[in-house]
Amino acid sequence: MKPKEALKIHFGYDSFKPGQEEIVDAILRGRDVLAIMPTGAGKSVCYQIPAVLLPGLTVVVSPLISLMQDQVKALKAAGIPAGYINSSLTEAQIARVYDNALNGAYRLLYVAPERLETYDFSAFARQATVAMVTVDEAHCISQWGQDFRPSYLKIVSFIDSLPKRPVVSAFTATATEEVKNDIACVLRLRTPKTVVTGFDRENLWFDVESVRKKDEYVLDYARRHPDDSGIIYCATRKNVDAVHALLVKAGVRAARYHAGMTQAERKENQDDFIYDRSPVIVATNAFGMGIDKSNVRYVLHYNMPQSMENYYQEAGRAGRDGAPAQCVLLFSAQDIIINRLLLDNKEFTDVPEEDIGLIRERDARRLQIMEGYCRTSSCLRNTILSYFGEAPAAPCGNCGNCQREFTETDMTEEAKKVVNCVYETKGRYGLGILTGTLLGANRARLKELGTTEYRTYGALKHLSEALLRLLISQLLLEGYLVQTADRYSVIRLGNIAPLKDPATRVLVRTHEDQQPETQRRRSTDSLTKAGFALFDALRRLRLTLAREEGVPPYVVFSDKTLIEMSAKTPQDKAAMLRVSGVGEMRYQKYGAAFLEAIAAFLQENPGAVTSIADPEAPPEAEKAAGKKTKKPKEAFYLRPGDGEGFRSGDLYLEAEIKDELNRICTAENVKPVFGADIRRLMESWGYITEKKINKMLLPFPTERGTAKGIVTGTKTSQAGNSYTVLLYPPEIQKEIVAYYTKNDVR
Ligand code: ADP
Ligand code: MG
Repeated sequence: MKPKEALKIHFGYDSFKPGQEEIVDAILRGRDVLAIMPTGAGKSVCYQIPAVLLPGLTVVVSPLISLMQDQVKALKAAGIPAGYINSSLTEAQIARVYDNALNGAYRLLYVAPERLETYDFSAFARQATVAMVTVDEAHCISQWGQDFRPSYLKIVSFIDSLPKRPVVSAFTATATEEVKNDIACVLRLRTPKTVVTGFDRENLWFDVESVRKKDEYVLDYARRHPDDSGIIYCATRKNVDAVHALLVKAGVRAARYHAGMTQAERKENQDDFIYDRSPVIVATNAFGMGIDKSNVRYVLHYNMPQSMENYYQEAGRAGRDGAPAQCVLLFSAQDIIINRLLLDNKEFTDVPEEDIGLIRERDARRLQIMEGYCRTSSCLRNTILSYFGEAPAAPCGNCGNCQREFTETDMTEEAKKVVNCVYETKGRYGLGILTGTLLGANRARLKELGTTEYRTYGALKHLSEALLRLLISQLLLEGYLVQTADRYSVIRLGNIAPLKDPATRVLVRTHEDQQPETQRRRSTDSLTKAGFALFDALRRLRLTLAREEGVPPYVVFSDKTLIEMSAKTPQDKAAMLRVSGVGEMRYQKYGAAFLEAIAAFLQENPGAVTSIADPEAPPEAEKAAGKKTKKPKEAFYLRPGDGEGFRSGDLYLEAEIKDELNRICTAENVKPVFGADIRRLMESWGYITEKKINKMLLPFPTERGTAKGIVTGTKTSQAGNSYTVLLYPPEIQKEIVAYYTKNDVR
């Protein structure tokens, strides 16, 4: 099989995203890889596809044991057998996983780095054929990264201990030079193919809001996006608890997560979020690494984070599926104080004394840059991208600043007063003293320092404090002033020469605080009203299926895939497979249920859905669809006596059984039964199960099912592919009829 075919069959995608194909090819040619791609760029696929194709096992080192199970479930849904080993398993379970892995039952095995050095694991690894070791979140190996984990340093001795050196691939979203070099050196990658993709995430909408009442903003936002999943990041545990309490009190289903909670509580809250039981989570930055939830539609920052690296990583957890998503940072000057405190109290373990000063300085510098982002009135996306070393061309037109209406004010004269004041301070004071002096504030501290005697004391008293701060940050951005990065950060003169040229102007852009949301793209923008109703129905079906199977909903299909389905309304397998994200493997599991739901919807709302290809949807259709206010339908059931009409056949397909059931049903206002319902019912009765054959999950009768007379057969699709079907004898058909018959209705 070629990589591209594997991408289609397992993941349902027609083409690779930037960087993916290069990486997959390099690995398959036996070359080490170091990939630096932003969150949501699709790093997993880069090692999962080689894992399917390489002869041997891929060991994936991943930082969070609490997420391995979900990762393995997601792979299973894509028809890729995988296992994991962590401390949540019993000895006996672990032994079984080792056995399975040795017997070639898995393509991938997930482990935490601590596990690698255990006796059992090295004994296992020496016997197994390890084709590749993949290090996910590889920045954890670097002391320069945000999430250094000493146990990551042990990966290399594990690799050395293997009888034959496997291919090594490392993945991270952290782009700094230091981290990149650390990864390559510490892991001893051999002339790795280094792939760095662009950092832009086009589907994300960025904004900074300077709001005084953050609580109100957050609550209002959550209420206005009731069906969306979102993350709200706060700087401290206290803030997490407060914002969480606020939301819960207002009836928003929200989970919370911080390091002050017990491990069990954290796991439970994390799961509530991943499984969409609580669409919103309020968390500190302890939350998120390794979370692959693709349908996060917004990330709000209640406080400013400590660095652009942090911000982009956290905000980037929105919209992994590629559908539009929003990232809003709520900024207040208070945030700078909170963050300085947090950095001051930062503890260092395993760091040489002489590095601590350097790290503190670096942290302070990062904080300043973050503040610059919060205060800039230029394009936010470009501010981010230039920080990460890209040189974007025009303003993006798709961020808060690009969409705001600005007033540009010439503040050259005021700028000169600021510079003069800094001159008078001899660069000894920070922002507070500087603004106080220029505004002519009546503060004891200013008298004490003597700044009330300056010629510039009160020179800008006609300005508001906010406008003065805006002017100062503009001067910092343009380099006329510089801010030192130490703890008691002071402001000094930068290169002021250009200001002496009378032609030089200092322009400050001011804008209204809050903008209406109308211009932002939403994930469902491509849908008409009826299309949205269908999306809603499909989203509910996804939740039901996910709950039945115990997998996170996004594992069934991503938001983006459901949105495309709702716009294209596929009515057969071929059309369904053309929807991005629907591959052969997922089609086998879920295709029928979604096809039926779409058919049912179209039957009820004929002509209502207009596709993406026709964005000018006829308003009549919308109106027609909107007018109907019907009682919600009940789950399928048969009334007593209905069953007598069931025409048993010798051996029936699931589809034939459901056709008969729907035909004989006399109950009113019930949903039809689907082929997939029958499949799941049979599984729940223990009659059938799924087995991996040639890396594909196929349905089979269990011993019990065989005894009952279930047999397997093959059918050929219109496209000429053959697939496995199950055939059920009359006895089981009768059992199914009895199961659906409600005896307590008339
Ligand atoms: P990362 O680990 O880089 O943050 P993931 O591996 O979690 O990103 O992938 C993010 C999303 O992108 C997932 O929903 C994944 O299914 C999707 N994706 C991956 N590869 C492709 C592709 N070639 N085309 C479309 N979507 C893709
Ligand atoms: Mg990832």
